Amino acid sequence: MPGLSLVCDFCGRVFPVSENRVLCECGGLLHVEAARASVSWETLRSRRFRLWRYRELIPLPPGTPIVSLDEGGSPLVQATRLSEELKVNVMVKLEGSNPTGSFKDRGMTVAASMAKFLGAKALIAASTGNTAASMSAYARRAGMIPVVLIPSGKIAEGKLGQLRLYGAVIVEVEGGFDEAMGAVLEYSVRGGDAYTVNSINPWRIEGQKTAAFEVADEAGAPGWVAVPVGNGGNIYSIWKGFKELKELDLIDELPRMLGVQAEGAAPIAKAYTTKVYEPIKEPKTIASAIRIGNPVHWKRVLNTVRESGGSIVSVSDEEIIWAQRTLARLEGLGVESSSAVTLAGLKKAINGKLVDKNEKIVLIATGNALKEPQTMNLHETATLKIPTLKIADTTILSEILKSITKFESPEHF
Ligand SMILES: [Zn+2]
Repeated sequence: MPGLSLVCDFCGRVFPVSENRVLCECGGLLHVEAARASVSWETLRSRRFRLWRYRELIPLPPGTPIVSLDEGGSPLVQATRLSEELKVNVMVKLEGSNPTGSFKDRGMTVAASMAKFLGAKALIAASTGNTAASMSAYARRAGMIPVVLIPSGKIAEGKLGQLRLYGAVIVEVEGGFDEAMGAVLEYSVRGGDAYTVNSINPWRIEGQKTAAFEVADEAGAPGWVAVPVGNGGNIYSIWKGFKELKELDLIDELPRMLGVQAEGAAPIAKAYTTKVYEPIKEPKTIASAIRIGNPVHWKRVLNTVRESGGSIVSVSDEEIIWAQRTLARLEGLGVESSSAVTLAGLKKAINGKLVDKNEKIVLIATGNALKEPQTMNLHETATLKIPTLKIADTTILSEILKSITKFESPEHF
């Protein structure tokens, strides 16, 4: 396949794409190298607003059967009240509108297609939940068996329900995500029969970068893009997407990337300040999707942040819950806790004078609030119990509605 290969980030070794391989023999991460495509906005925009609108920019071997659930095309919502409060122009990309409720479907459509090309019979991944849910759906779509390694008792209820629904083979690993990931990495290096679709999979990056294409397609290049950072694959992918658009002259400017980690799981944010990377043994945060102590993409994230002139910050669980509630109550946007970190991080960046007034900023809301029923139920709201209501007696309802304002919290900020 001329012009298409897998290249090691670390040692530069080149592998053919026809090999079932997602890591270099040296253990280094691989990236896809492809001949540069050439395409215009006019051609791209003549197609439906979905991920495969950008097919020229998603390299795959010729003849690869596409495994798709019609992913992508997620809403980019103007957050008017939030913008007024924060004095910046905030837009939120609702990735939870993807088929399995998270951004993971973007990478999975490409990785599952590659698995089909390679003739795999099963897909395997370690996951904090969203990858597992997405992979299970795409495996079934492709007629393959999904095998997931999850940290025992540590994934959100909605995501576990998805695994049961899609009939994934669930391997519960004692410990956390990092232990599950370690097992899959070991499996990948040994070259098992199942195809590994963790975020180390280079084809997933090629799908995830399309979030950048969609943002630029609808709103041009923003000043900043805020992305939650767990394993770090998404911020790296989105930055890659913007860089490719710039190389193709499809945008004039590049955004700055703002990575946001949860305080109890922030080895990259810490390394950004201290210049020393140290994995965290027992990562702790309410935001389970980014509860990762040893992110595989940590070097890529640091490069992304530095190259883009951006930053990486960490936020507390309290700030995350505040941000989740604020997005819901100020803008009507239901995002999972790990997505809400972007707003908490933005507020921190504004307070730290990192982001200027009136700048255009896109928050990448990676997953849907419905993924985490337990977290949603942490929020309090006005709940009134009334005796059996007679249809004719509307007085009691009028009284309640009159007094309802006292239940509305004025303390959003
Ligand atoms: Zn290597």
